[in-house]
Amino acid sequence: MSDDKKLTTRAADFSAWYNEVVLRAELADYSPVRGCMVIRPSGYGIWERMQRVLDDMFKATGHKNAYFPLFIPESFLHKEAEHVEGFAPEAAVVTHGGGKKLEEPLVVRPTSETIVYSMFAKWVQSYRDLPLLINQWANVVRWEMRTRLFLRTLEFLWQEGHTAHATHDEAEEEARRMLGVYRDFMEGWMAMPVVTGLKTDSERFAGALRTYACEGIMQDNKALQAGTSHNLGQNFAKAFELTFQSESGTQEFAWNTSWGVSTRLIGGLVMTHGDDNGLRIPPLLAPTELVIVPIYRSDEERAKVLEAADRIERNLGEWKRREPNALRVHVDRREGLKPGAKYYDWELRGVPLRMELGPRDLDKQQAVLVRRDTKEKKSVSLDVLGEEVEELLERIQSDMLTAARDRREANSIRGAITYDRFREVMDGEGAFVYAGWCGSRECEAEIKEETKATIRVLPDEEFRSAEAPTTCLKCGAAATTEALWAKAY
Ligand SMILES: [Zn+2]
Repeated sequence: MSDDKKLTTRAADFSAWYNEVVLRAELADYSPVRGCMVIRPSGYGIWERMQRVLDDMFKATGHKNAYFPLFIPESFLHKEAEHVEGFAPEAAVVTHGGGKKLEEPLVVRPTSETIVYSMFAKWVQSYRDLPLLINQWANVVRWEMRTRLFLRTLEFLWQEGHTAHATHDEAEEEARRMLGVYRDFMEGWMAMPVVTGLKTDSERFAGALRTYACEGIMQDNKALQAGTSHNLGQNFAKAFELTFQSESGTQEFAWNTSWGVSTRLIGGLVMTHGDDNGLRIPPLLAPTELVIVPIYRSDEERAKVLEAADRIERNLGEWKRREPNALRVHVDRREGLKPGAKYYDWELRGVPLRMELGPRDLDKQQAVLVRRDTKEKKSVSLDVLGEEVEELLERIQSDMLTAARDRREANSIRGAITYDRFREVMDGEGAFVYAGWCGSRECEAEIKEETKATIRVLPDEEFRSAEAPTTCLKCGAAATTEALWAKAY
């Protein structure tokens, strides 16, 4: 049972608010191992829904699931020069097994490119074996020094897609396609709008040719990199001799992509939608969409109301809706807890819709529905409850996306901005700043050094400003591109 102490407000301390929501909504807990987390049923239930939806989307785009080992021979990491530079510093390494020192140490996977492409090299002989489209659901380990629940932990859950193609263009198309899948998921299911685009060379994945990312804006105006998709070129194919015989009979290196999203998305969901009363879960991802709170005084009323609540739960559970799933309904039968305390608890946990059901409602064959997102109340007739609940859930889902989009636009800055003003913004309330960039690594590094803001992406066309910026934010030279700047998690 969560205590009744009020949450720290977002305005007072966003970071403290985030930790309190995660802990008190029982999404996750700290573990005995520093930097690791335990995902509790309320958090894991959201992850399971995310997995199910994404898995369907991956399969609809031609991918199949497989599983590769947790351990990777240390030498594999060293075969791709940039990859080892990027991942060796945060690798966990196993040196002993069964009481004996190992001949070759094993790295606990920080990501699986090396072991996957070593296997692809065995499986692919001819162009007829391509494309090879694989996804794996797994855990990975990165020895992070500063950790936050869901956002950065030593071990986290994710999926990693790995594909091999005959040509550069096919790999490029795949990397872009999966970025689009992620965006559709984040907007359509998480109600979290994202800006997509290309990472700069200094921010791209270690070993990739090009990295694309989805960047969401959190309520503290910091960016969250919510998913990435990489065109790996032939870098790993060359390191692991992943070759195939082309149609014309020549021996060629394959082209690879990899792409991933992780349990970090749950952190993104909390920071996009939560309010000072707790979590707000978009209906499509909510393990419980509707909670029924029975109201009664006497034993007689209790029997009557609970019987009605059970009947409603059963009927709604069989309700045929457009989404091919029954409505997810829960009746709060807890004894010794006043309705008000139950409302507070379900608000904290973010259940999208609450039904208040008392004897007087039943006499009138109606119930009161309360939206979690807006707190709006509505009396509805029990005769049309299924339609009403379904319609309200759909409206909540779309209103949450609209609200998040409006907030992003209200906190985006476009057009001419001086570097002094930019520093002021980054020192203060923060924002998504669209500004010109000359393309030099020096300007990028100096801005990061001075303001902690980084180029999140070079935005895709639809996100670029109507009037392209002409000068670099830092040096004032001619801009070669528009960049999206923000501080990030
Ligand atoms: Zn510059």
